Amino acid sequence: MGQIKKHPGKIMKTDLQQDFIETINKEYKKCAACGECRMVCPVYGVSGLEKNVARGRLALAKAVADGDLDLTDTMADSFENCLLCMGCVTQCAGGVDMVEVVLKSRAYYVAKKGLPMAKNLAFKALTTDRKYQNMGAAGARKAQALFMSTLPETSGLRLKFSLPGFSELGQRILPALPATPFITRQDRVYKAEQQKQSVLLFVGCAGNYLYPGIPEKTLAVLNTLGVEVMVLSGQGCCGAPVQAHADTNTLKKLAVNNVQLFSKHRDQKIITICSSGGLMLKKHYPRILAGTKFEAQALDMSRRTMDISEYLVDRIGIENIKSRIKQKISLTLTYHDPCHLGRGQQITTQPRKLLQAICENYLEMPDAKVCCGLGGTYGFSHAKISEQILDKKINTIAGMTKIPARLATGCPACIMQLVHGLHKHSLSVEVGHIVAFLHRALA
Ligand code: SF4
Ligand code: SF4
Repeated sequence: MGQIKKHPGKIMKTDLQQDFIETINKEYKKCAACGECRMVCPVYGVSGLEKNVARGRLALAKAVADGDLDLTDTMADSFENCLLCMGCVTQCAGGVDMVEVVLKSRAYYVAKKGLPMAKNLAFKALTTDRKYQNMGAAGARKAQALFMSTLPETSGLRLKFSLPGFSELGQRILPALPATPFITRQDRVYKAEQQKQSVLLFVGCAGNYLYPGIPEKTLAVLNTLGVEVMVLSGQGCCGAPVQAHADTNTLKKLAVNNVQLFSKHRDQKIITICSSGGLMLKKHYPRILAGTKFEAQALDMSRRTMDISEYLVDRIGIENIKSRIKQKISLTLTYHDPCHLGRGQQITTQPRKLLQAICENYLEMPDAKVCCGLGGTYGFSHAKISEQILDKKINTIAGMTKIPARLATGCPACIMQLVHGLHKHSLSVEVGHIVAFLHRALA
């Protein structure tokens, strides 16, 4: 993305305090204290603590909003220790929006205490020119290569990488960082031979810096189906990690950059390949930019955004795709619902339709919609709980009547987490994005 020079209206501490109080009072009124949220909250499921479930978090936030309790570090931990998985949001009969409660609570806490310097610098870097971001990625790749070169070939640690700067160090498997990111410094158009439609691709940071194979295969699949794809070089981070850590001003800058850029191509659908990125574009941008001069553009962007599975099934058509299959995916395949795709965007049938069409033997995973425990950077900031939640997920897979040979999902972050968990449990299951399996079937 080009460097953003103009500040799109700085958010002040008093605004955030007022916003926090109004949100908490509104959501608290909806809560009947029934405790149903305890049935689905992954964090409560492993900790068993009331402060780690929607009902408890809301009660604490209300006490802070009423001035009965101070917003201490211990108190803030209740709001930090949430995956933003939306499990409670869909479970709650009263309609309590815990994601709003948690985000507003975090924003108020950061407004009072300030953002830690490491996070501040990391998030600010997301608004710099892409060449500086690429330099950072190249540095990370060198560091990863150096770290691994000091380990014996057979060491399991070669697959692991630790991230400093968080409260707990996470030791987890990360993909080898690619030599070059996916997005180049010029806009690119990938033409289809028999073009029927034209779309814009929103790549996302994970697709750009960690798994460039996912956008590459997306282009190939779409081109095969007669869809021209345009990749805008100025697109930046969707802002999901920045939102989760409550850097509200940087978040707004990132949203404005993407909204303005994609508004230059108003006739085309915007295809997302990352569940959190899709959720940001569809649902959060209109909320973040509400009341600003960018609101109408954000709403238009939201209406034009489609997840790749949604686009393929609803716009291209499953029969059309079936007619192009060259070879079905062999053996067994199952599917994990990413939280921000299933609950966040209500995209659950389209991925299954695609996978059932392209594989020999589709197996439905029990509790497929239960969070894998990554939650963006939660997996690093709350590594122990994240691992416990992941262990449950992997044990569910291990307990299937037949352990699947392959596991598809619709989010690069879930892929990273599931690969890590399966490796840890010594389960040999191939994990990939839906488009990767689709690409193989159509190739
Ligand atoms: S499910 Fe909803 S209404 Fe019930 S305790 Fe949880 S937040 Fe409150
Ligand atoms: S969003 Fe997920 S982790 Fe957070 S309170 Fe709700 S169910 Fe628990």
